[in-house]
Amino acid sequence: MTRLSKTECTVLDHAAAAPMLDQVQQWAAINTGTGNLDGLRQIASELADAFSALPGTLRLCDADPVDSVSALGQIQPIVRGQNLHLQVRPDAPLRVLLTGHMDTVFPADHPFQTLQWREKGILNGPGTADMKGGIAVMLAALAALETSPLAARIGYDVLINSDEETGSHGSARLIAELAAGKVAALTYEPALPDGTLAGARPGSGNFSITLHGRAAHAGRNPEDGRNALLAAADLALRLAALKHSALSVNPARIDGGGPNNVVPDMATLRVNMRPLTPEAMTQALAALHASIADVEAQYEVHAHLHGGFNRPPKPLDPKAEKLFGLVRQCGDDLGLPISWKATGGVCDGNNIAACGVPVVDTMGPRGGAIHSADEFLIVDSLAERAQLSALTLLRLAEKGGL
Ligand SMILES: [Zn+2]
Repeated sequence: MTRLSKTECTVLDHAAAAPMLDQVQQWAAINTGTGNLDGLRQIASELADAFSALPGTLRLCDADPVDSVSALGQIQPIVRGQNLHLQVRPDAPLRVLLTGHMDTVFPADHPFQTLQWREKGILNGPGTADMKGGIAVMLAALAALETSPLAARIGYDVLINSDEETGSHGSARLIAELAAGKVAALTYEPALPDGTLAGARPGSGNFSITLHGRAAHAGRNPEDGRNALLAAADLALRLAALKHSALSVNPARIDGGGPNNVVPDMATLRVNMRPLTPEAMTQALAALHASIADVEAQYEVHAHLHGGFNRPPKPLDPKAEKLFGLVRQCGDDLGLPISWKATGGVCDGNNIAACGVPVVDTMGPRGGAIHSADEFLIVDSLAERAQLSALTLLRLAEKGGL
C-alpha cells in the first residue's frame, strides 16, 4: 500500500463530499429513454447546469443522422437527442476522455419510472446505476480534481451522449473525434455489485439485409417468381453456420411474405454478430458479404445490406492492462480491492478502445439488475468510486502519463 499524500487526501475528501445521491435522485426522476426527446432535453439542461461547476467550454451538440430499416425494407430516419460535450484545458500536456450516457433503456411509457428504497443504502430506480449514478461519480471526481494544483497538468473532454443504449449511432463519430490524442479514457458504466470491473468485451454488429425478388402467381406461373423469403431463410442458415469460438451469430428475425398464392418478392433478415477479436470481425464482415452474393446468385434476388459493427471488439491490450493496473493501484491505496473480468456486454468503451485509447469503462458506482425494473444502486459506492476516479486522475496528472 502506497501512502496517500496530503494533497491526495484533500482531493479525496472533496470527492466523497459531493452531493451525488441528491443528483442521482434528481436525474433518475426524469425519464430519459433513448427515444424520449423531451426527457433528454430536460436532462441535458440539468447536466449542463451541474457540469458548469467545472471550468472549460460546454456545448450541446446535435446527433449525427441515424436511420433504420422498416419491415418493408424502407430506410427511415430516427431523431436522437443532443450530446453534451465539455472541453477543459485542451492545451494541457496530458489529456484524457471521460464518457457517460444520459439515456436509459426505459421508454416514457414503461412502468418502471420511480425511485424507491429497497433497503437501507440500496436505491432502486431507472438509471440509478446505469448510469445517472456514474455521471454523478464522474462529476464529483472532476470537481475534486479541480481543487488540486495538479489539475493544471491534465486536460480532459467529457462526453455524455444520448443514445448509448441503442448503439451510439448518433454519437460514435463524436466519441472517435474526442478520443483522438488522449492518453487514457474512463467510462462510467456501473461496476458489478461486488466491485468487479469489466475487462475484455466482444464486439457487436446489427445488420438488416433486405432481399428483393419477383412476385408471381403461386399456381399459374411460380417459375417466373423469385422467392425473397426463401433467400432470406437460406441466408439466415448460412450466417448461423459462420459461428465459431470467436464469433457468435444470432439470426433474429425475418419480415416478409404475404398471401399463400403469391411468390413473395421481399423479405428482410435481421442478424446480430458478436466477434471476440478485430480479426474475427474482419472475417465475419467478408463472410457476410460473400454469403449475400451467393444467395443473390442462387435465388436471382438482389440484396441491400444496412448496418455494421457499431461496437468493435475490445480485447485487453498492453496499454489497457497498464491503465487497469493504475486503477488497481489506486484501489489498493484506498483499501478497495479491484479486479476485472471479461463480459459479453458492449458499451462506448468498445468504440474508445477501437481508437487505440486504453479505457476502463466501468468506473461508475456498484449496482446491478441493470436494464430491468430491479435496477439498483449501492449508495455507499458513490463516494467510494468518486475517490477511485479522482485518485486515478490525480496520479495520471502527477506521472504525466500511464
Ligand atoms: Zn450504461
